This record gives sequence, C-alpha cells and structure tokens, in this order.
Amino acid sequence: MAQVHQRSSDLESGRVVEFVCNICGKANRSTFLELARENATCSSCRSTVRTRSLLRVLSLELFGLEVCLPDFPRVKSLRGLGTSDTALYASVLADRFNYTNTFYDFAPRFDIMNPPQGELGRYDFVVSSEVLERSAPDRDSPRECLRAPETERRAGPYGAIFH
Ligand SMILES: [Zn+2]
Repeated sequence: MAQVHQRSSDLESGRVVEFVCNICGKANRSTFLELARENATCSSCRSTVRTRSLLRVLSLELFGLEVCLPDFPRVKSLRGLGTSDTALYASVLADRFNYTNTFYDFAPRFDIMNPPQGELGRYDFVVSSEVLERSAPDRDSPRECLRAPETERRAGPYGAIFH
C-alpha cells in the first residue's frame, strides 16, 4: 500500500526518471508524467513506452536477457513474422533475422487471424502490436504460426509477442 502511495506521489511530483532507450541506445531523462504509454519519450528515435516494452519482451523471449535493439545478434536461422510493425524496429529485425513484416491491407499481406495453411508452424517468433485487440480474442491461430511444438509454444525460447 505504501508503494502505491509513493508511485502516486511520484506521478504528481513529476519526478525525473533516467532511462536508456532499448530501441536506439540513447540515454534519456523524462518525468513519470511524460512516460505515458503512447508518448514519444525517447529524445532520439521518438519511441514510446509501448514500443520499448514490446522490444524488451522480444529480447527476453529470444535471448533470455535484455538486449538493446542495435545489439541484437545476427541470427538468420531465426524466422520471424511482423504484423504491421513500425519502421522504427522492423528494418533492424529484418537485418538480424529471417524476418518479414506483413500487413493486413497491403503487400506483403498477412491475416494473422486466418493464416494460410503454408504459414503454420514456420516462425520462431511473431510480433503483433495493436492488431489482435481488433480481432476475435478467442482464436488461437496466431500461435499456430509458430514452428515449435505445442508443448513448447508457451515456454521459451520460442515465443509469440502479442501486445
Ligand atoms: Zn530511442
């Protein structure tokens, strides 16, 4: 309870927080108030808390530790699928992995809720941010794209990033 009170106090005071952006590696200073989910708070790449969180989870799923995007190793044997990923990180993922960014309404097209049969079981990771909440939440088709057997899909190192 005391910790919640402290956080509330930090929010109200505009306490300054220092952080290193895991998208570009730049050191930043911001206030708690500014660090809202969708605010562009990195002074260099303009990434948001949402995007930095997404790439943090991807790093933890793939490598088991927090690695800044510029330091991601090149592992072309890892196959990844993006669904409307932003250029902010998609180009780096394409450089490091066997990764394809796709889109619902233009090429290269991919409907994650109705993946073609040939795409099932092909990917080591799937990144999907702000896509599934617009789709039917009770379907499991995004997970069917992963190449790991069902028993391994819910535990690393293979993972799906649905944010
Ligand atoms: Zn940045």
